[in-house]
Amino acid sequence: MPIAYLHHPDCLLHNMGTGHPERASRINAIEDQMKASQLMEFARYYEAPLATRQQLARVHDVKYIDNILTFNGEQGDTYLDPDTMLMAKTPQAALRAAGAAIHATDLVLTKKHDVAFCNIRPPGHHALRDQAMGFCFFNNVAVGVAHAIEEYGLSRVAILDFDVHHGNGTEAIFTDEPRVMLCSTFQHPFYPCSGADTVSDHIINVPLLAGTSGEKFREAVTTYWLPALDKFAPQMIFISAGFDAHKDDGMSLLRLRDEDYAWVTQEALAVADKYAEGRIVSTLEGGYKLHALGRSVAAHLKVLMRMDG
Ligand SMILES: [Zn+2]
Repeated sequence: MPIAYLHHPDCLLHNMGTGHPERASRINAIEDQMKASQLMEFARYYEAPLATRQQLARVHDVKYIDNILTFNGEQGDTYLDPDTMLMAKTPQAALRAAGAAIHATDLVLTKKHDVAFCNIRPPGHHALRDQAMGFCFFNNVAVGVAHAIEEYGLSRVAILDFDVHHGNGTEAIFTDEPRVMLCSTFQHPFYPCSGADTVSDHIINVPLLAGTSGEKFREAVTTYWLPALDKFAPQMIFISAGFDAHKDDGMSLLRLRDEDYAWVTQEALAVADKYAEGRIVSTLEGGYKLHALGRSVAAHLKVLMRMDG
């Protein structure tokens, strides 16, 4: 079965200014690499719909949602934090990104596909219930997870987040939600400086020091994530797929390689096969060095497409 590949051209319209690392060329670099690696023939394309206000309101405050959605640019570009700028096209792009996570969840839970990948921006995992931050407006992965729980009645959903930054928004949204297990690795101390002190049986945070190699990353996942996932037995897996821990990505000081992303994806797939009927929805988060991003996503997708081994 091919995987579902979700995207929408509106995701390219959000533009936080020349030189901003979170830029439309990231999405294009991924598509270019998918084409160059002949991965498109193992993927079926779906245009991402717009998320609805009701779907967003499962994880965001209504007032916050309306503040974003009513923004039309007449007020001029508006910084919601020093790195996160709201411009005229942002609401459209953000609604498509969250809508991709919704539709991907539907495709997987109605058995049209086992696996879906959302090539989307803006990313989501720093977005809080009522606040944009760290390039993120709506928490795409959280919107998808809440949809799986509310619409399909799932009671155990796991999120695996290997972005180099701690997904503070996702953690905050699900901190009191035992139906969601969040497994995360992130450079620490580093932006947003959260996560290292969390004590929770369903939030498995593994801070990694600057300079951490792929080998140590694998050790951390094996030691902390996998036993927790075995105990939790998730019915579905979401991946907050950030690729900014790559050794070539200037955003961070972790030293992961393309093959480490293939490895962690293989581990995710093994858990999905064991407990979750192979169901995985992966949504793009960070990753800013275009060549490394394209190659790492290709490595991730080859495993999800079961092309390796
Ligand atoms: Zn990141």
